Amino acid sequence: MQSFSVYYFDGISSVPKNVTLELHDSFVRIQEFDLSYDFKDIEVGVKLKDTPQSINFSDGSYCQLKPYDFFSLPGSSKDKLILKIESKLKYALLFFALLCVFTVFCLTYGSTILANTLAPQIPTSAAEKISRQTFELLDKHYMSESKLDKKTQDFIKREFDRLLNKNSDFKLHFRSSEIFSANAFALPNGDIILLDDLVKLEKNEEFKGIMGILAHESGHVVHMHGLKTLVKTSISSALIGYLIGDFSGFTTAFTTAAIDAKYSRDYENEADLYATEIMKKNNISAKYTADLFDEIIKKSKEQPNGIILEYSILSSHPAMEERIKKFRENK
Ligand SMILES: [Zn+2]
Repeated sequence: MQSFSVYYFDGISSVPKNVTLELHDSFVRIQEFDLSYDFKDIEVGVKLKDTPQSINFSDGSYCQLKPYDFFSLPGSSKDKLILKIESKLKYALLFFALLCVFTVFCLTYGSTILANTLAPQIPTSAAEKISRQTFELLDKHYMSESKLDKKTQDFIKREFDRLLNKNSDFKLHFRSSEIFSANAFALPNGDIILLDDLVKLEKNEEFKGIMGILAHESGHVVHMHGLKTLVKTSISSALIGYLIGDFSGFTTAFTTAAIDAKYSRDYENEADLYATEIMKKNNISAKYTADLFDEIIKKSKEQPNGIILEYSILSSHPAMEERIKKFRENK
């Protein structure tokens, strides 16, 4: 039998009494008051390094051990383990290393796995709401009405409908934007926005180059790249917010991810592949899109600073030369 010299508090008075606590096979006993408690009526507090451990009884009374003592019910390894972990620096360091590995995993493969799993689970109504709000935000701050004549708009719309086999999941919108210049975006609900500056650079009368870009944008919708990016960005900012204790970045990241046209290279390749397949099906040569890319580069070089098309398709879609080559090969 083990015994401990402890302070006993009866739960009524705050004055501690110096007593002896005996640990028997299935109960504990406070010798001085002849009080016994079954193990099931006891809750043993966690022992942290150099702090006195407490033992609570079901009647509201409790004991406090001396800081150097450690109390554990027979068969309970949990408390010993916690003490061991708390006491040993090497365990603390090991946990820190595991936390680092976990963080890196979450920010890389983990977020990709989660994005692929969670994006398809996002309800259509939520995707619709995110898209609508994003569209409103773009309209309010960055875009204005299209200046293209109705005939051109109708022609492009008709060709686009034919390209996607009249798929009603997609809706084409025309806008102009000084800041985004020659560009096009897709929102998760299938809204595709085509900007005037891009249309103006098209040399083909049947807008075959534009069709490649619209097919690419619909590829982003089909493969849910917008929602996946949203999930990834949210995971990263929530995790970083948790680690540094500041969640202010979380809300802004959630909003900006939706309009951030910069997808990962894998997503761009996937959308390009989708586009070239759609064009092949429609007997449209992908070379027209490569020609349009050339025009965008040419126009960009003509600008006074060379980089005035800062938010154009050139900045949101890197490795342009490589893409041009890929589209030319798919003629
Ligand atoms: Zn893209």
